[in-house]
Amino acid sequence: MKKLALLLVLFSMLACSSAPITGRTQILIVPKYEVLEQSSLQYEEVKKESKILNNQDSIRVKKVGNKIAAAVESFLNSDPAYAGMADDYSWEFNLIESEDVNAWCMPGGKVAVYTGILKYAKDEDSLAVIMGHEIAHAVAEHGRERMSQELIKNYGAVTLSSVFSQNPTAATNLFSQAYGISSELVTLKYSRDHEKEADKLGVIFMAMAGYNPNTAVDFWEKMAADKETEPLEFFSTHPNSATRIQLIKEYIVSPEFSKYIR
Ligand SMILES: [Zn+2]
Repeated sequence: MKKLALLLVLFSMLACSSAPITGRTQILIVPKYEVLEQSSLQYEEVKKESKILNNQDSIRVKKVGNKIAAAVESFLNSDPAYAGMADDYSWEFNLIESEDVNAWCMPGGKVAVYTGILKYAKDEDSLAVIMGHEIAHAVAEHGRERMSQELIKNYGAVTLSSVFSQNPTAATNLFSQAYGISSELVTLKYSRDHEKEADKLGVIFMAMAGYNPNTAVDFWEKMAADKETEPLEFFSTHPNSATRIQLIKEYIVSPEFSKYIR
């Protein structure tokens, strides 16, 4: 009985987390190391199966990505509430040749940008909108949260302690379910709440790195105006782009935003 009580305490300690800045409650029961290991493995797979570019555009992607990542890390390191969090990231930013209007970030900071989205991001500020949003997914641990939701759905939370030891492929399966991976195609399955949160944190992070957050409004308006565009990541789970643009417009003049950006 004592053992059970201890397990329950441990479980609730593990389960009760909150997303940085927004404070949204999250259930994060899949161990961090399982998530990071899967992310590294899958990212290497994608790199092997894709055409990774090494040109002026990829230099720009890396430059903007690294600049925002550095700003985010110094923010995390400056606040005791986020102590040690920055250590979980080993950032990588790669440009993949593909017509898809897409970009994504796996846990631990493994980012991919597809050339198809660059027509909407010709300057560094608009590229920073994409990178800020993707980096936000990693910092708010949306991948780990998705995997935890899949874990509860598949196994039930009570069996947590035995899932990973008794089933060596559990972590791989959860990661594939959360990320919808089949060969080189990565279709993220974030919720609407995750997308909204990534939009909010994304504009904060780009501004922390010195980019103009107002560009986010222009960027999404440009995307929305192009009817042929159906970005795999950005619009699949959103109600509509007007709602998203409105949310960003309101957020960049909100007290929460100005608390972080002076
Ligand atoms: Zn997103």
